Amino acid sequence: MNNKPRYTIVVPCYNEEGGLHELHRRLCQVMDQTGETWEMVLVNDGSGDRTPEIIRELRASDPRVKMIDFARNFGHQLAVTAGLDYAQGDAVVMIDADLQDPPQLILEMIDRWKEGYEVVYAVRSQRKGESWFKEFTAKLFYRIIFRITDVDIPLDTGDFRLMDRKAVDATRQMRERHRFLRGMTSWVGFRQTGVYYVREERFAGETHYPFRKMFKFALDAITGFSYLPLQLATYLGFGIAGLSALAALAVVFARLFMGATPFYGQATTLVVVLFLGGIQLITLGIIGEYLGRIYDEVKGRPLYIVRETIGFDEPSRQDATHSGESS
Ligand code: UDP
Ligand code: MG
Repeated sequence: MNNKPRYTIVVPCYNEEGGLHELHRRLCQVMDQTGETWEMVLVNDGSGDRTPEIIRELRASDPRVKMIDFARNFGHQLAVTAGLDYAQGDAVVMIDADLQDPPQLILEMIDRWKEGYEVVYAVRSQRKGESWFKEFTAKLFYRIIFRITDVDIPLDTGDFRLMDRKAVDATRQMRERHRFLRGMTSWVGFRQTGVYYVREERFAGETHYPFRKMFKFALDAITGFSYLPLQLATYLGFGIAGLSALAALAVVFARLFMGATPFYGQATTLVVVLFLGGIQLITLGIIGEYLGRIYDEVKGRPLYIVRETIGFDEPSRQDATHSGESS
């Protein structure tokens, strides 16, 4: 406790055996320029490859490397959460293991932090080596979130950011299960600013965010920060009721003055019924999305299960028992 490092670098790792040595080398190169103490917290998120062995190897030659070993795969957001729970630094940097976030940028973040900013997030001014589809959906995603939520989530930022101890502790108090960390770290407030960078290609391996996971992540973000989808039923209800009142008037008018109705046959009826049925199912589904998340919160299960930690002198101080609970 007395020799707490100045900086903590939190790295979620899921099947990253190919890039960890390089990541460690690049981080050392960058962090040693600060002339201050630092630690590197690698969270092994239930990898199926040699990731944990490689972390142990790294630790054998560099005691600043620490590991949190998850009992299974809990996902990126929870891996980072565990890292924040165990981090001891005055400033904590979250960075991906695949070197898509350039470590050099950390120095710039530290400069801004020393100027007094409490959250310094990295904004991607450009992405390299990703399909147009990923780029397009990511752009669209950020713009939708930005529009419909009431927190100022900066456009095109990932989880790569530096946080002051105060912001880390504030974020750690939010124990929700379905996490959208970049929204949560912005929700806490404090003085925030951005630094710009070009997103690199992955150093090794492949993305673990296929479309399916991205979609789920987007739903977590939206449900976590907006009630708008729930209100959709109300708006649609008013809209459709208004339209049908107009339609009723039109039918009466046509009958009285034109001697005919403009609607024919069963097909019209069928289309209208199916349309309404569809809308009702969609709004039920939306309620279901929220309900499922409420159920998950109510169960109050731990956010993640740790098999073992390596390198932390006082695991009890980390609040490991409390950190797993939702209250
Ligand atoms: N990751 C993780 N658990 C997962 C999926 C990913 O800890 O279930 C980590 C992964 O090792 C990487 C980071 O989260 O350090 C970002 O993942 P990835 O590079 O696959 O996402 P992308 O950059 O393609 O959005
Ligand atoms: Mg990546």
